[in-house]
This record gives sequence, structure tokens and C-alpha cells, in this order.
Amino acid sequence: MRIIVILASAVLLLLGAGSGEWKAEAQTTADSARIVADTALPAFNSPYRYRLRTVVLDAGHGGKDRGCAGVVAREADVSLSLVLALGKQIEENMPDVKVIYTRKTNVFIELAERAAIANRNHADLFISIHCNAGPSQSHGAEVWTMGLHKSNANLGVAQRENAVILQEKDYQKRYDGFDPRSPQSHILFSLFQSAYITNSLRFAQRVDRQLRTTVKRPSRGVKQAGFLVLWKSTMPSVLIESGFLTNPAEERYLNDKANQSYMAAGIYRAFREYKRELEGGS
Ligand SMILES: [Zn+2]
Repeated sequence: MRIIVILASAVLLLLGAGSGEWKAEAQTTADSARIVADTALPAFNSPYRYRLRTVVLDAGHGGKDRGCAGVVAREADVSLSLVLALGKQIEENMPDVKVIYTRKTNVFIELAERAAIANRNHADLFISIHCNAGPSQSHGAEVWTMGLHKSNANLGVAQRENAVILQEKDYQKRYDGFDPRSPQSHILFSLFQSAYITNSLRFAQRVDRQLRTTVKRPSRGVKQAGFLVLWKSTMPSVLIESGFLTNPAEERYLNDKANQSYMAAGIYRAFREYKRELEGGS
């Protein structure tokens, strides 16, 4: 990628030879290309500056897959509410950004199809929202990117989220022999998405900070593991575990409409910061 960036900068400098303005533009382009080195290079024919145009919002689970559960709340419902609240805020405040939802209702969508939706629409960012499960004292949000898990606990979260493919037909064929129950499968597979890891982490860190500071939620930090839903997406991608439905206090918090909107506002602010940074602070 570095070589492509250098080549692209060189071509722009050649094109701009003799014009100070063009040279300045080329330099700006080179700088922004470096910043977005793992997303996409600006197109030659139109904008010289990167623009984040399309975001795909993915509400985890749905339909026959209800995800994890608390006493009354179900992951499929809470994640959909959070996604719809986030999408509404982006649509209202950023008319230049196209928001695409993998689902807006309670339907089952296969994991591979979720990434495919993002790829078909040439999305610049993929955000998948979920809720966590664990011992009743476990609480706090987590922001995940694709990568090698550093602990069995991290592997466990990915295994739980990936287990849904057992409900899909021909899953071994469709997921290249991946077995959600096998740690070895997760190790091999965690190497995917590495081309987008810098910006995935950049966005994940912003989400983590917003959730901790503005939203004032406990956060367990930015983590990495092999999530099937992020596997084949060809853009920076994160998975947000918004909190534990198995913790009574957190279930109450997450199942409340005002809190969902508040939490979505934190993710929205992280999105706005990330977009501004990639676009060069405009
Ligand atoms: Zn989930």
C-alpha cells in the first residue's frame, strides 16, 4: 500500500508540474492518502480528498436467531434499537453520508450476507452492534476489531457470536471449512481484514473513549478476535458489544429507549470524529 501511495503522489505531482496550486493539492492528497492508507485511495478523476460517504450499520442476530438474553431483553431487539437510533442520528446530522442497514426489522440474515451488503455498496465503514453474555457480575461495553485473540475469554466472545452459522445451511462450505467451535479455526481466520486494521482500530478507540467519557458507561476496552461477520468485509469494520444483558443493572440500562439513544449518540460522536480525521479535519 505504501508503494501505491508513493506512486499516486508522484503521478499527482507530475500532473501538477508548473502550477503551485496543483502541487499544494497533490501534497494535501499525499497526506490524506497516508492517513487513509488502509481504506481507499482517493479517485484520480474526482475528489482529491477522501470523503466518507457510506456507512453500513449491522444489528446483530434477528429472526430465528435471538442472540443472547437477559431476564426480559433479547440481543436481537436491543442491537436493532441501538442501530436504528445511531442511523437516525447520522441521517439527521450528516446528509452527505448514506446509511445502509443490514436489517431494519426482526429478520434472520446470514453472517456472510451482512459483509456482502457492505461490499456491494462500497461502504467506507462497517459497524456491527451486539450485546454480550457472561457471568451475572460481568458488565461493560467492548469494541472489537478483527485480529488474533489474546485470551480464552476473547476467543469465547467470538465463538459465541460466530456460533450462529450453525443455524445456516452448508455453513462449512460457505465459510471455507470454518468451525466456530474450533480454536484453530479462529486463529487462522483472525488474519483476515488486516489490510483495514489501522482504521478499524482508529474508529474502535474513538468509540471506546466516547462510551467511557461522554456516555459514562463502563468499558472493557478495544479488543481483537476473529468475528465471522467482519471476515469478508473490504473496509474498516468494528463490532460493538454494547453491554451484558446477563447483568441485571446493565440489562435495565440497555433495554431503555432513552439510554439506547444516549449510547447511540456516543457512537455517533466517535463516527463524526473518525470521519473528520480521515477527511482532513474539515
Ligand atoms: Zn451478538
